[in-house]
Amino acid sequence: MQFNYSFLKNVLDIAPNPIFIYSTEQIIYVNEAAIKLMQASNANDLIGKNFAQYVHPDYIQISANDLKKLFEQQLPVVKSYLKIITLNKSIAEVEVSASLIDYNNKPAIIGIANNLTEVKQLNQKLIEYEKKLASIINQIPHLLFVVTKDGYIKEFFNPHYLPLYKKPKEFLNKNIEEIFPASLAEQIRTKIFALNTTKQNQELEYELVINNREQYFKAYFINFNENEILVSVLQLRNEDYIFKKLFVESQSIKLLINPENGKIVNANKAACEFYGYSFDEITQLNINQINILSDDEIKKAMQLEKENQCHFVNFKHRLKNGEIKEVEVYSGKIILNNQELLYSIIHDKTPVVEQERKFQNLFDNLIEAYALHEIITDATGQPIDYKYLEVNEAFLTFTGSKSKQDIIGKTVKELWPNTEQYWIDIFGKVALTGERISFENYWQVLDRWYLVNAFSPKKGQFAVSFIDITALKKTELQLKIYERAFQNAPASIIITNPWGKIQYVNPFFTQITGYHAQEVFNQNPSILKSGYHNKDFYRNLWETILSGETWIGEFYNKRKDGTYYWENARISPITNTKGEITHFVAIKIDITKQKQMQQALIAAKEKAEQSEKLKTNFLANMSHEIRTPLNAIMGFTELLRNTPITEEEKQEYLKVIAQSSNRLFNLINDILEISKIETGEISVTKNIVEVDKEFDFIYQNLKLEAEEKKLSFFLNPTFPRPLTIETDKSKLLSIVTNLVKNAIKYTHSGYVEFGYVLKGSILEINVKDTGIGIPKEKQNIIFERFVQADMRSNKPYEGVGLGLSIVKSYVEMLKGNIKVNSEVEKGSTFTVKIPVQLTAYQSIENNEQEQLTKPLFQCTHLLIVEDDPSSGDLLTIFLQAYCKQIFRAQNANEALQILQQHPIQIVFSDIKLPDMNGFDLLKEIKKHNPNIIVIGQSGFAMEDDIKAALAEGFDFYITKPFSQNTINRLMNDIAKGISK
Ligand code: ADP
Repeated sequence: MQFNYSFLKNVLDIAPNPIFIYSTEQIIYVNEAAIKLMQASNANDLIGKNFAQYVHPDYIQISANDLKKLFEQQLPVVKSYLKIITLNKSIAEVEVSASLIDYNNKPAIIGIANNLTEVKQLNQKLIEYEKKLASIINQIPHLLFVVTKDGYIKEFFNPHYLPLYKKPKEFLNKNIEEIFPASLAEQIRTKIFALNTTKQNQELEYELVINNREQYFKAYFINFNENEILVSVLQLRNEDYIFKKLFVESQSIKLLINPENGKIVNANKAACEFYGYSFDEITQLNINQINILSDDEIKKAMQLEKENQCHFVNFKHRLKNGEIKEVEVYSGKIILNNQELLYSIIHDKTPVVEQERKFQNLFDNLIEAYALHEIITDATGQPIDYKYLEVNEAFLTFTGSKSKQDIIGKTVKELWPNTEQYWIDIFGKVALTGERISFENYWQVLDRWYLVNAFSPKKGQFAVSFIDITALKKTELQLKIYERAFQNAPASIIITNPWGKIQYVNPFFTQITGYHAQEVFNQNPSILKSGYHNKDFYRNLWETILSGETWIGEFYNKRKDGTYYWENARISPITNTKGEITHFVAIKIDITKQKQMQQALIAAKEKAEQSEKLKTNFLANMSHEIRTPLNAIMGFTELLRNTPITEEEKQEYLKVIAQSSNRLFNLINDILEISKIETGEISVTKNIVEVDKEFDFIYQNLKLEAEEKKLSFFLNPTFPRPLTIETDKSKLLSIVTNLVKNAIKYTHSGYVEFGYVLKGSILEINVKDTGIGIPKEKQNIIFERFVQADMRSNKPYEGVGLGLSIVKSYVEMLKGNIKVNSEVEKGSTFTVKIPVQLTAYQSIENNEQEQLTKPLFQCTHLLIVEDDPSSGDLLTIFLQAYCKQIFRAQNANEALQILQQHPIQIVFSDIKLPDMNGFDLLKEIKKHNPNIIVIGQSGFAMEDDIKAALAEGFDFYITKPFSQNTINRLMNDIAKGISK
């Protein structure tokens, strides 16, 4: 939007601030306000003039500097404080904001001024007003407080006028409760509240002890402003105040009478009420309109009073309703406001008469037995008997007497001759000394407890009251019993009020929870909450007990020390006669032990069930695992035997048979192994192990298996070689082989890689595959016996779930650990960490692989002792490459004969022979020639068997079934001359 020039000029003209436009040389424009500021008559007085001529000499430099800044465009706006000399030569103080503008194509300055003179004057005025106000306030002879509506004292004035309750500065910024006694503070609060709500000024009279003297004040509460109240306090004259207290506010009936004419000058509230007149009515009356005595009589009486001769006079007074009342009047002189007045206190006598009658009634109707007696003394003044003066109805019942006449006037010895002197002495003392006594006593004949009170209404007399407290005593007794029970109960007891706040806990509670009674008093029992139970649990609890029922349940709670416990609780409400709930009682028994047992039991049961399931599963699986390969072996053997087949087919069948046998063998091995582990029969034997070689060996062994599944198979090249350590070799091999076999088994595409790294003294073995993976939730349990990740019966993988548990047992025996990291469909990595001992033993430097078929060592005469021909045949075939002549013996005797006849160098001997056991044969052979190398061979594949065999003196030991590889290795070892 574009404004035209005249519009803008109009705006400038009417602006409230003085505005100038000037070039360096002269003023070009001024508005009305500027004209006024400069005390000019019109614009022409100023236009064309040099602005500088109006600037006070002290400020010329400042103004010139500021202008320069603008012209050089250093600043867009400058603000300067200036003194201006007006046309009338007076000085105005201004603050000018100036900036550069374009005025008719020439640079000019526009200055907008703020007239500080006016502001200053206003300020001055304000100060003057305040001073005035202060002086006014100071002249009010009251102590003044400015109090906020929420009771804080903000300011106070005129402390010199009144005696102060506290030092002046102690009043400020304090809350009234912090300053004044509680009862006064409460009254002040009430007044402030009333003022706030009714908007009507309030008054309060009060007393305060200042300088050890009671002083009286009156405070006025006045609205001051929106947030504050003015409290104006003045001191009351003591006499006024006392008069007011004693006369106006007194409960007794009081009149002030002019003794000259009998006019009632003043009457208090009690008097107005008694006579039935309003204050205005009664103060119109003369005393003779109330007193029914004749004027003369009244005069005479008053005269007597005036002369101070008589203080109590019995009169008859007439009330407004005409009723005549017997009154006793006390009168005295009093000077009030320089006038002598008669001060009368009127005592209504009617009630006394009535009271006596009432008293008799009451006396007779008292539930407690009551009797008045007179003591009878002997010549020495010793009490010897007492006489009944008065008894009430209850006393008759109490003593079983028929009428008062039977008792009154008689002495206790006449009535009850068996009365002990003891009682006469006790009551005698009361009657003669005036000493009061009170005691509880049990009357056996009546089986009742009484509270006995005795006092002396008059010397020589005594009154006794008997209050039956049997019921009380019994409850007390019962309470004591309960208390005892509570205190000693072996259960924690909590009693709360209806709001659930603890009122009582017994010592057992402290024992269980660790909280002391005083710590939990008024607390909610929720301090014991463990967070185990949900909201519904507690809601149900409350609903039950609030409906008046007992809640029974179990809590899992937390002790003070943060430990947890179980308790069985019964919580019941306790109601009064009206059916209202007065308390809740919780009785709780610690059942942590039972719970633990119960939980252990459940766990055991679950485990048993689980084991049962596992067993069934295992058996089914096992039968499948045994039958499948057996079936293949039997089937194909059958085929081989009975069917005409090609050589190719034959090889194929043999392969199947070999695979199946292998599978069966592995399974049986595993089962035997696990049962050994289970019975703790396996121990760790440390050997020197060339880890790199063993890994190569495993790699070579399993390579074919992996290739058959078209998997890439790697032995990681990262490990240090050679690496020789001391560990249990067979276990180490079993661990790695098992893991790699599993990896191949559970992988269908991709790769399997394994290897080891030595990290300090930890041998870390990794077996990684890109197989089916193991679901997270199964990763822990696959290491358990007979557990397979996929437990469905129609699973496509062979195995019974023993491999990993064997691996784990071995790893643990070697003090290591095993972990699996796996993702379904992506693959698994098993990591085994075993602490190992590095040894100085270094691998014998030969590069040959044991499985090389080229024999290193040729022996000339070798003997195989084996009763099973097929095993013998197999061994013969495997050994053919190593020996020129192989002899066969079916039993020990045959063997010994052959030994006699031929220079046998090596003997392969079965351990179980028909005529002698292998160990005995060994002894015979060594006896014959200790240089003969004897190799034990048997189906006893247990580690201990092997150890035992070696200990017996076998040079080597191989277990059935063995492969060409085994034999190659063995023969290599023999060649190397290493005995293992
Ligand atoms: P199994 O005889 O069933 O192979 P194991 O004890 O060797 O028994 O293994 C237990 C289970 O762990 C297997 O049944 C299989 O579900 C799972 N498992 C073991 N290794 C692997 C692996 N490399 N990849 C996927 N699953 C595996």
